[in-house]
This record gives sequence, C-alpha cells and structure tokens, in this order.
Amino acid sequence: MNTRGDGGFLNNKTKRSINGYHSYRYERQKQVKETKRHITARALEFCTRMHAHYPSVQSALNYTDAFTLTIAVLLSAQTTDAAVNSVTGELFSRWPTPQAMATAPIDSVEQVIRRIGFWKTKARHCVDTARMIVNDFGGTVPRTMAELTRLPGVGRKTANIVMNKAFNNAEGIAVDTHVFRIATRLEFTHAATPLAAEQDLLAIIPRELWCNVNEEWIHFGREVCPARKPHCDTCFERDLCPFAARMQQR
Ligand code: SF4
Repeated sequence: MNTRGDGGFLNNKTKRSINGYHSYRYERQKQVKETKRHITARALEFCTRMHAHYPSVQSALNYTDAFTLTIAVLLSAQTTDAAVNSVTGELFSRWPTPQAMATAPIDSVEQVIRRIGFWKTKARHCVDTARMIVNDFGGTVPRTMAELTRLPGVGRKTANIVMNKAFNNAEGIAVDTHVFRIATRLEFTHAATPLAAEQDLLAIIPRELWCNVNEEWIHFGREVCPARKPHCDTCFERDLCPFAARMQQR
C-alpha cells in the first residue's frame, strides 16, 4: 500500500521536501535538535498520510447554510456534535434565518437547547449573533475573520470553521482539543494555548492543506490518538511521532 497516497494532492516541490522527514529518526537517535526544515517535512508527511487515510471526512454537525453552520459550531463548544444535532433540528425549524432568530425570545431558545452544556450563555449568543448579523451585516453571515469574530460567542476557532466550510476560504486552522493535543504530541508546537498553536501550525503546514486539518485530525484523534490511551502500536503515523518514541524509550 502506498502510505503516502498523495494521488496528485501535492506538487513536486512539496513532494521533494517531504523526503526530508526520514532525517527525523536519525536526529532523534542522535539526540540532535530537529531543524525547522525537518519539522516542516515531517508535518507534510503527517498531513499527507492523514489525507490518504481520511480522504473525504465531513463535519458531523447538521447545517444547511452559513448561518446554521455558525450557530451549530457556536453551540458545539464543550459539547458533543451528537448533542448539538439533537437540539438544532427544532432550533432551525423554528428560527431558520438570522432575521427569525433575531426576534426569538431568549427564554424560548433556552428551552430548546437546554439539553446541551452552557445552554443559557449559548442561547443568548444565538440571539445576539443573529441580531448583529441583521443589524451590522445586512442579514448575511460576514465572510472575513475580523467580522466573524465580532459575533457574540464566535471565536477564531468557530470563525475558521465557518470560513472554511461555508465560504471555502481557509484563512487559518481551527485548533480544537483534538488538533491541539495531536500537534503537541507530534511536537509541531510547544505552545500553551490553541491560539498560539495555530500560528505554529500555519508556519509549517502549506496553505493548500489548511482546509483538511481540522476534520481529518478530529477523526484521527477520536479513532487513533485519543487523550487517554492512544493506539500507538497500530498508528500509521507512529514513525513520525516523538510521543511514541518517548514511550518506547521508557
Ligand atoms: S503514535 Fe501514538 S501519540 Fe503518536 S500520533 Fe499515533 S497514536 Fe498519537
């Protein structure tokens, strides 16, 4: 099996630079500090294998347009996608547009979403976000990072997802708990926060791959590399992973 499996996914220059990842193991054995060039090559190989393994993963959240996507992602903070989907059916049927949700009584929204975490705050954010979209953005979800992050309850992670999925314009990488954990284990970042980790990832992953990272790494994080008991023995990224190398040395 061709584990690289790029299938034309990467250009020749990128493919040549990937070859540098083999040096990682040498450097690890020799206790030599890995260079930026080799971290970049390793990250490329990691992303290429990831895309080969998860070529067409989709969001588990139910949505129909940029507005319902924004609300669904806003609701998903510290809550499972399944829990969000269990409330958005009724939520979006009662208030399907920014105009409709802008007029919704907050206590009615609270009643609909009260099965998910932080429902009181999230209900207020839903209505306030809809009102801002109507009042400040002409009734349509804005398309820039600066505008999206003005919406109540919408941080950079949510804005990245909306820009990527709704507008096909990846301006960054949405760093959630899975992406942050995996990037840290792979030593692609040593940052203390997801926001800082995103900047490290943007510096080593080519822009054309940014759109794939969030969904693919979420699936990988759930199936192969969970927070507790990662499946290192059978992981297809194992030879690229400092975390696995450290575990082996113990
Ligand atoms: S080798 Fe282990 S820690 Fe490293 S990416 Fe794979 S599952 Fe995660």
